Amino acid sequence: MLRVLQKSVGLIFAIASCALPQTRYTGKTQWLDNAKAVVTHTIDDTTKFVPASVDAMDRHGIKATIYVNTASKTMDELWPRLRKAVADGHEIGSHSRTHPCKWPDTEEFCGGAYTDAEIAGSRDDILKNTPQPHVWSWCYPCGNCARYPFIQKRIAAAGYIVARNYQDEARNGHLIPNLNTFAANAFDAAYTQVVQKKGGIAPTGNDDLPKLNAKFDEVYSAGAIYNFMSHPQWLDYGPDAFYEAHLRHIGERGGVWYVPLGPLYAYRELRESAQINSKGKRFEVSTPLDRKIYNGSVTFEFRSKQNPVFNGTPVAERKPGALQQWTGAFYRREGERLWVTIPPTGTLEFR
Ligand SMILES: [Zn+2]
Repeated sequence: MLRVLQKSVGLIFAIASCALPQTRYTGKTQWLDNAKAVVTHTIDDTTKFVPASVDAMDRHGIKATIYVNTASKTMDELWPRLRKAVADGHEIGSHSRTHPCKWPDTEEFCGGAYTDAEIAGSRDDILKNTPQPHVWSWCYPCGNCARYPFIQKRIAAAGYIVARNYQDEARNGHLIPNLNTFAANAFDAAYTQVVQKKGGIAPTGNDDLPKLNAKFDEVYSAGAIYNFMSHPQWLDYGPDAFYEAHLRHIGERGGVWYVPLGPLYAYRELRESAQINSKGKRFEVSTPLDRKIYNGSVTFEFRSKQNPVFNGTPVAERKPGALQQWTGAFYRREGERLWVTIPPTGTLEFR
């Protein structure tokens, strides 16, 4: 009897191993393309210094959200440069039309200042003047009003999915909030640190290069989100000045995903929503989210010796190095570990 049982167990194992699929799905990665860490940058205000800041980022592969005041006269000079920035993988975010700002930021002030023209009007200005499909990011002028739920609701109602704050500038609260992950409330979102000289009503700046770089190193080692902000008018320019020297330290690293803030927050929701179901040898991937807003890709990990084919087209292998996009289809392999990055809408096969 025992021998019969052993035989049947053996037979079951034999059948099971024959039936083992050649490709096995093991899960979604935390960051796109199984990156080790994320770098995101934001810059504030419409000034003539914006192009110099974006030029410096482009020399080091940093991707940023560029927050502008769309009713400023200086915008006439900036729009052409911003259109190029969108093509280069940056994001244009709204910093309102006219930068309303007042201390203390009472409920009464915020209720009056946060008009439809400031919130939805600035969004429409960006959509009209750039090829960006959506305006994901808002930034509170002077950090005012970020804490009020009724204001956050107005921002969300205009289609923004993240709103960056600037906390307690008068007491240097804005310098190193040290948030190295997603904000619990995306409409009152902090960041890792400021990278700029003294400006505004702040007692000091945060421009000591060794300290700036050490903070990045700490966040990078933790595999987290290094999220830094600057005002281009409070920077020094030139390859050896603190801003570009910091960009050089953090830029062009293999295993780092460089992405603007809005697409990063969109990625969080897209990744969570993405479904993958195996149907025989195929995998169907889908998301219920609006692809105009959630237009990025998600990375699915497999064990396979075969290569991926997505919606009938072989997926290209990505060369190692910094990842500077949030869309597209590509794969990367280490032995049998395979990371397939695709828009979550279609059919994935392995051949
Ligand atoms: Zn501002």
